[in-house]
Amino acid sequence: MTQAQGDEHWMQAAIAEARLAGAEGEVPVGAVIVHEGQIIGRGRNKRESSQDPTAHAEMIALREAAERLRSWRVTDSSLYVTLEPCCHRNKKTPPCTDALLAAGVSRVVVAMQEVPYVDSAALEGLVSATETTSGPGSSPSSTPWSGV
Ligand SMILES: [Zn+2]
Repeated sequence: MTQAQGDEHWMQAAIAEARLAGAEGEVPVGAVIVHEGQIIGRGRNKRESSQDPTAHAEMIALREAAERLRSWRVTDSSLYVTLEPCCHRNKKTPPCTDALLAAGVSRVVVAMQEVPYVDSAALEGLVSATETTSGPGSSPSSTPWSGV
């Protein structure tokens, strides 16, 4: 399987989660985290059903992945999410993105950006930050987020 085929495959799993969220009356966002060729975390937006402002798909997937790995460091993992992690209002680092960076997720694959809140510079920051943190010996805190 090429990386592109893999991405397609895992994104389908994220889309399936998004469909479930939609069926539950939520904003349809889904996410999966893949580690060593397996899904270790799944999440779908549950803001309404759990009345939790942080119950975003990627946060739920990240929590499950951390539990599965028994570590808050979800390194060597890829997140597939149907919508860009959180919104980039006021150019502040969004909470989901902070969590992903802190966990050291190596790769983030996004199917769709949230218009009109998207800030492409912030997205580029996320992409380069996650690529940077996947390198050996690099620290998730040394990301190019500051000032974005
Ligand atoms: Zn979020």
